[in-house]
Amino acid sequence: MANRTFTIIKPDSVRKGNFGKIISRLESEGFRILGLKKVSLSTKQAQGFYAVHSERPFYPDLVKYMTSGPVYVAALEKEGAVPALRKLMGATDPSKADAGTIRKEFGESIEQNAIHGSDSDENAAIEIGFFFAESELL
Ligand code: GDP
Repeated sequence: MANRTFTIIKPDSVRKGNFGKIISRLESEGFRILGLKKVSLSTKQAQGFYAVHSERPFYPDLVKYMTSGPVYVAALEKEGAVPALRKLMGATDPSKADAGTIRKEFGESIEQNAIHGSDSDENAAIEIGFFFAESELL
């Protein structure tokens, strides 16, 4: 069954010109792009998006990083989309990510790790709703 997930091509990827390469990886792995936009996250949006981490010591830096430049947000569809994207992304820390994963190839640190992917179907729906109306998903 086709499932949805949500991704952010993070500011470090956009800055380094890796957006196209990452989108190409997603497409070649069978993700269909239902919706895509370039946005600059406000501090409030970044704080809200990562509210689950608000008590962690790295939270202020994470918010600063995610607002440091434009990002691309996308709603994706594929069978088993959430685990498939997590596997393709690799571990949070790029130095610990498996060979061939997006974070291994494009990430530069545990913070500046190239890409976000939802961790559950429930969060995918919430995160997609953060940026897209259902009518924008094609
Ligand atoms: P993810 O699901 O693999 O993205 O990881 P988490 O949900 O645990 O963390 C969210 C984001 O916070 C990560 O993708 C990183 O950008 C950042 N992050 C996670 N852990 C750390 C850390 O220990 N230090 C710093 N500076 N940033 C972190």
